[in-house]
Amino acid sequence: MSTRQFFVGGNFKMNPGTTQQKAAIIDILNNAKLDPTTEVVIAPPALYLLPLKEKVKNGISLSAQNSYVKSTGAFTGEISPSQLADAGIPWVILGHSERRTLFHESSEFVAEKTRVALDHGLKVILCIGETLDQREAGETAKVCESQLQAVVKVLKEEDWSKIVIAYEPVWAIGTGKVASSAQAQEAHVDTRAVIAKFVSPAVASSVRIIYGGSVTAANCRELATQQDVDGFLVGGASLKPEFVDIINARQ
Ligand code: PEP
Repeated sequence: MSTRQFFVGGNFKMNPGTTQQKAAIIDILNNAKLDPTTEVVIAPPALYLLPLKEKVKNGISLSAQNSYVKSTGAFTGEISPSQLADAGIPWVILGHSERRTLFHESSEFVAEKTRVALDHGLKVILCIGETLDQREAGETAKVCESQLQAVVKVLKEEDWSKIVIAYEPVWAIGTGKVASSAQAQEAHVDTRAVIAKFVSPAVASSVRIIYGGSVTAANCRELATQQDVDGFLVGGASLKPEFVDIINARQ
């Protein structure tokens, strides 16, 4: 087992639908016995970041689901990294496949957002991953490498201590089709090799690479046994009581 701290993120996406449902999820997390060795971060919609920051216990921290490249200005609907930092929100998810696909964010734009977020003192959960067509064409490693390369170009070696890489195959996100532990392990090893080659072997061995895509209480333990799986980014199951089991996957 590596010395990298296990990391579990909950990406609530544009959920839950009501304040009451949100309170129920937080009560479950606050009252649960969570593995103290797991770093837990939840990413509710921006509207809920500040109230939840006051409410969450158990050492859980908050993440935004997105941030822009500017600090202030005429960018209707955007949220800036400096506003997040000012509000005491330590993390932001960038490059999620829903943002890449539905909102047409290129790898270069994700890289720019990552650079700016780090410049404002945020830590970044950086998502990468291939589509089903790309996997079937044998392009998984190539796609992940090119998504990472865009970020490698704009970061310095020391910046990588503020990054958690989330390998999230697009075909597994929200589909119920989880990657096998061998598929996840292989992609994580390849990702680590890219970091070793283009950043440094030291960063490659210390950077956390987490898996995301239909993780549940039923499949998390097997995935968590893999040497290079340092945790999970969880969508659907982060809204359910089973999120606790996923946080405790290594217990
Ligand atoms: C995600 O959105 O990051 C995700 C992994 O979703 P799900 O767990 O629902 O597949």
